[in-house]
Amino acid sequence: MYSSLNEAVKDLFGSSRKITGQGYVTGGDINDAYEIVLDDGLHLFMKRNVRSALANFQAEAAGLDAIRATGAIRVPEILGIGTDGADSFLLLEFIEKKQRVKHFWEIFAEELAAMHHAPAAAQVGFGFPEDNWIGARKQINTPHDSWVDFFRDCRLEVQFRAADQYFSPQDRKRIDFLLSHLDRYLTEPVRPSLLHGDLWSGNMITGPDGKGWLIDPAVYYGHPEVDIAMTELFGGFSQEFYETYREAGAMEDGYLDRRDLYNLYQLLNHLNMFGRSYLDPVLRIVKRYGGG
Ligand code: ADP
Repeated sequence: MYSSLNEAVKDLFGSSRKITGQGYVTGGDINDAYEIVLDDGLHLFMKRNVRSALANFQAEAAGLDAIRATGAIRVPEILGIGTDGADSFLLLEFIEKKQRVKHFWEIFAEELAAMHHAPAAAQVGFGFPEDNWIGARKQINTPHDSWVDFFRDCRLEVQFRAADQYFSPQDRKRIDFLLSHLDRYLTEPVRPSLLHGDLWSGNMITGPDGKGWLIDPAVYYGHPEVDIAMTELFGGFSQEFYETYREAGAMEDGYLDRRDLYNLYQLLNHLNMFGRSYLDPVLRIVKRYGGG
């Protein structure tokens, strides 16, 4: 834990090192992001936010560590976490973007499948030892023995409760039906897989090796179809990715019947973060699974 950015830089890279440049990086929706340049030319990546965001940065670092520990796929190195005046920060290896390698999508799919197949590092069943964040909202990871129970209690129910104001009495009946019949639709996976947890195209960037690196995770142990469903929600992943993942990954028959239910969690989270514009897609899924 550092008590200033300068202290972190000096501790990590030597007491004579100085920051000579700092540029704003666009693309994030939660934190301020910066590319920092040191006097020897080294680039660092920093996320910055108010002091109370320190716990978010610690959770993000724990997620990156969990992914790294699978040995399956690259994530940026965590350099340090700290406070700086009224702010807190997370300092990461700067990922220099390079041109994509040939077969980029096939390699990414194989590596993601390897992450999903990796033995669980924590004996938590479904969930994670600590809660973390999904966008700006807390993500509850209380361990459960059953995947379906976990997805109901810690994913859908939490979000439905927060979004209650948007629903009519008839919607609420459908929601109750959906939640109490979840085991009709969802299947228990063979075993828990480590999930990225927020796998849209902005959270996969091409690194210096020309391959896909994962950033900004919201990890937990769950059904790997959750990550695949999320890649389809906002688009951007290629057909080769899906073809290879289908061969190498852990998808089961009937995935298309489950996909929208998994994405309902993300859509509800968007409804709770950004408001009404996400209500229609939520209601479409509620109608489909809510007993007519
Ligand atoms: P937020 O926490 O606000 O969602 P992101 O993780 O999305 O922030 O990062 C903001 C921007 O910085 C994105 O454009 C992303 O591609 C880029 N980025 C994230 N991590 C790194 C990194 N380690 N090196 C270089 N660029 C990064």
